[in-house]
Amino acid sequence: MARESLDDLLRQEMQDILDGETQLTKALPRMAKAVESSQLRAAFEQHLRETEGQIERLNEAFELLDESPRRKTCHGIKGLVDEAKELMEELEGSVLDAALIGAAQKVEHYEIATYGTLRTFATMLGKRDVANLFEATLNEEKATDEKLTTVAESMVNRQAAAGEDEGDEESESIASRAARTMGAAAGRASAFVRPAANSGGRSRSSRGRKGSSSGSRSRSSSQSRSRSSSSRGSRKK
Ligand code: FE
Ligand code: FE
Repeated sequence: MARESLDDLLRQEMQDILDGETQLTKALPRMAKAVESSQLRAAFEQHLRETEGQIERLNEAFELLDESPRRKTCHGIKGLVDEAKELMEELEGSVLDAALIGAAQKVEHYEIATYGTLRTFATMLGKRDVANLFEATLNEEKATDEKLTTVAESMVNRQAAAGEDEGDEESESIASRAARTMGAAAGRASAFVRPAANSGGRSRSSRGRKGSSSGSRSRSSSQSRSRSSSSRGSRKK
């Protein structure tokens, strides 16, 4: 069995997350394109730009360690990205938005664990400048997680819970389930949500399913229903 040093481990973990971040630069644009909430799309697009900066930081860290940046398949991020792809195939509308917030938060939590570990390793090895780079990225990942919680609580959750189409019981129960899942995912950071977001200050008419900004993305509820029923086959009744 190979005896590797903490220094080797640090470099391997960096190769792993460099690959993970690279995967995310491909996944985030797809996720941004798939959602109907313009607020959520903007959050994904902003995090895409941050992710590109994080790759730069990793390259800088490699340089500080006199190592050329290399990538090693990150199976953790790959699994999470595959799950997000499945959700994009199976769901649509506000329920997809809720599901992709959850999927993105799983990625952020994975990254928070990774960069926390990298920062600790670098600190233990006395590489203060490298540790600072990981700390900067760690803070971005945490802020992204909190932002996604805010988006979920303030908008997507409520839309999903209200249901896209009154009278469609199945649609409503899927939406409610998604909302409960999101509530659980969002629970930890709920302190960041302003009370006003939950106080019913906004009109219930926001349940009308499409934001005016969705434009050509919009599908009518009947199209949505027929897509769902054809994809789910006889489960409908
Ligand atoms: Fe990242
Ligand atoms: Fe991230």
